[in-house]
Amino acid sequence: MSHSYHRQLVFTLKDRCRVCFTCVRECPVKAIKIINGQAEVLNDRCIGCGNCVKVCSQGAKYPLRSISEVETLLSSGAPIVACIAPSFPAEFEEINDHRIFVGMVRKLGFHYVTEVSFGADLVAHAYEKRLSDEKNRGDISSDCPAIVFFIRHYHPEMVPYLVPIASPMVAMTRVMKEKYGPDIKVVFIGPCFAKKAETTEVDEVLTFLELREMFQQRDIRQDNTLPAHFDPPFSGKGSIFPISRGLYYSSNSRETIPEEHVVIAEGRVNFKEAIKEFEEGYIRDKHLMLLCCDGCIMGPGTSPGGKRFSRSAAVGEYVRKKLQSLDSETWNKEMERYGNINLSQSFTPEDRRLAPAIDENLLNALHAMGKFSAQDYLNCGACGYDTCIEHANAIVQGLAETEMCLPYTIEKLHDSISNLNVSNEKLARAKAALRQSEKLAHMGQLSAGIAHELNNPLGIITMYSNILMDEAPEGAAVREDLKLIVEQAERCKKIVSGLLNFARKNQVALTETDVVKFLKHAIQSIIKPDNVTISIEPHIEDPVAFLDIDQMMQVLTNLVKNAIEAMPKGGLLTVSVEGNKEEIDFFIKDTGTGIRPEDMDKLFTPFFTTKEIGKGTGLGLALIYGIIKMHKGKIHVDSNINPAKGPTGTIFRITLPRGKG
Ligand code: ADP
Ligand code: MG
Repeated sequence: MSHSYHRQLVFTLKDRCRVCFTCVRECPVKAIKIINGQAEVLNDRCIGCGNCVKVCSQGAKYPLRSISEVETLLSSGAPIVACIAPSFPAEFEEINDHRIFVGMVRKLGFHYVTEVSFGADLVAHAYEKRLSDEKNRGDISSDCPAIVFFIRHYHPEMVPYLVPIASPMVAMTRVMKEKYGPDIKVVFIGPCFAKKAETTEVDEVLTFLELREMFQQRDIRQDNTLPAHFDPPFSGKGSIFPISRGLYYSSNSRETIPEEHVVIAEGRVNFKEAIKEFEEGYIRDKHLMLLCCDGCIMGPGTSPGGKRFSRSAAVGEYVRKKLQSLDSETWNKEMERYGNINLSQSFTPEDRRLAPAIDENLLNALHAMGKFSAQDYLNCGACGYDTCIEHANAIVQGLAETEMCLPYTIEKLHDSISNLNVSNEKLARAKAALRQSEKLAHMGQLSAGIAHELNNPLGIITMYSNILMDEAPEGAAVREDLKLIVEQAERCKKIVSGLLNFARKNQVALTETDVVKFLKHAIQSIIKPDNVTISIEPHIEDPVAFLDIDQMMQVLTNLVKNAIEAMPKGGLLTVSVEGNKEEIDFFIKDTGTGIRPEDMDKLFTPFFTTKEIGKGTGLGLALIYGIIKMHKGKIHVDSNINPAKGPTGTIFRITLPRGKG
C-alpha cells in the first residue's frame, strides 16, 4: 500500500486574513505563501498538522470538511461502521457515561460503532515484536500521519526508517473488513485532519468537531439518547494511545525495550529537532516515537481551548475503568483471531524540499530588506520565519514578501513619514505663496486706483512746468529747476504707468537687453551718499536677456534704495550678475543692519515697513515681487542681524529666465 494520496486539507478565507503571519510562524514546514499581503496554504507543502487552523484568531483557515460525504454514505443504506479514536473521552468530557456517547453516534445511523483502540492494541503488539529484535533499533514511528508526510516530503532519505507498520486507524479498518466483509464502509472519527489524507483504505474521516456539528444538526443530545455499547472487538491498553508516550505504554514494550532506547518527541518544534538529530546520526540507534501535536488529545479536530492535562486525565480515567472490567480471556482470543491480519505499511519518499536559493538571489532578497551585513540580520521572527536568511530564501522561492520584515517596514514607514513632512512643508510654502499673491492682487487694485488718481495731477504738473519753462528766459537758474521738475514729473508718470501695468498683471514689455550695460546705467543714475561704496561685478559671458527695462529699473532702484537705507553709517553695496544658459541671477548685497528673522516672511507684504512714518511706504518689495513674478522669476533673501554670527547685512537674489524664444 502506498501513500501517494494527498488531498487539500486546509483552505483560506482570504477576506478574514489580517496578515499577522502567526500561521507562517506556526507552520512547521512553511507551507503558507504570502501573496499580495494574504496568506494561502500550499497543498503541495502542507502536512496537515492543522497548526494554522488552531492559531488563526480570525478563523481565516478552515479544514477540509467531510460531513456531506458521510451523510451520503449514511443515506446509501450500505453497512457502515464508525471507528472512534481513543481520544474521544478527552473531547467529550461533558458526557460522563461513554455509553451515552456511543448511543449518540449510533443515532446518526451507523450500523456499528467500535473503538480504534483495538487496532492500537494490535499495532502496539506489532511494534513490541519488532523492537524486541535489536537489529531493528533505530527507526521512526509511523502512526502520526503528519509526521509521515513530513518525513516523506522533507526528509525523504529517512523514509526507509519509518516503521513499516500500519497506523491503529488502518489496522482497525482491516479488522473491520475481516469481521464484516470487504463491502463494509468505514468512517473514522477522531481528533486529526491529516487522517483525511492518510489513506484510501478508510472511506471517510470526520473530526470530533464535525461529529459535534452532526449531533447539533440532528438535535442529538445526552438527555434524549439511550446508552449503548461499543461493538466488539474490545480493546485493552490501546486506549491509552492518544496521550503522551501512548504507544510506549499501550504495549508491553517497556519490558522488552528499555526507556533509554526510546526518544519521545511531541509538538512542532520537538519532532523536527528529533528527526534532524536522527538524520545527523546523533540518535540513530534510538526508536523515535513522534507526535506532531501535544498528544492526539490536543489535535486540531478537537474543540479549541481544551485543557491538556484535564483531557489527559479524562482518557486515563476512562482507560482505568475499562481495564478494570476487561475480560482478558475474550481480549486474548480477539488478539489471536485478528493476529494474522496484515499490518504492514509501506511508505514512498516524495521530495518536496525547495531547491536552495542561489547565493546571488538570496543576497538580493536580503539587500531589498535593507540587510547588508550579519549585523542587520535581526532574526526577530516577526515575519514568521526563524531567521532573516530563511525569510530571504522564502522570498526567492516566491513564498514570502519583503514587506513581511517588520524592521524594514517600520523603516519604510519612517521614510514615508519624513517624505510626507517634506510634502507638507512644500504645501505650506505653496499656501504662503498663494496668500502672498492674493495680497498682491489687492495691492494691484489699490495701486491701480492710486495711479489713476495721480495721472491727472501729474499731467497738470508736467503741462504747467513746461509752460513755465518755455516762458522762463534762456539761461535763467529757474529754467534749470523747472527742467528738473519736468524730468521728475515724467519719471513719476512712468512709475504710475508701471503701477497700472502691474495691476493689469502679466503685462511686461520684454526687450532684448544687455544686462551688464543695463545694470551699470541703472546704478549710475541712482543718487548715493558718500559713505556708501557701490561695486558692480559682472560674472557673465552672455549678457543678453529679455527684460522689461522700465520695470527692472524699478526693481533695482528699490533694492538699492533699501540697501542704502539699511547702511545709515555707510558700507559696501555689491551688485553682481551671473548667469547660465537659461537664467540670469542678480545679487544685491549690502553690509547693512540686516533683517530680523521674524520679519522675513512679511517683507513682500504691501505696506510692511520698519521705517518711520513718512519715510517708508512698505510698497517697494511688494512691487518688486510682482514684477519678478511677471518675468516668471524668483526672488530670494538671506540676511544676518547678529554680528556674533558673522558680518551683518542682506543679500537679495533675483533669478530671471533669459526669456529667449
Ligand atoms: P520700505 O522701504 O518703504 O520700508 P520695502 O517694501 O522696500 O518698504 O521694504 C520693506 C521692509 O523691508 C523695510 O522697511 C525694511 O525693514 C526691510 N528691508 C528691505 N530691504 C532691506 C535691506 N536691504 N536691509 C534691511 N532691511 C531691509
Ligand atoms: Mg523700500
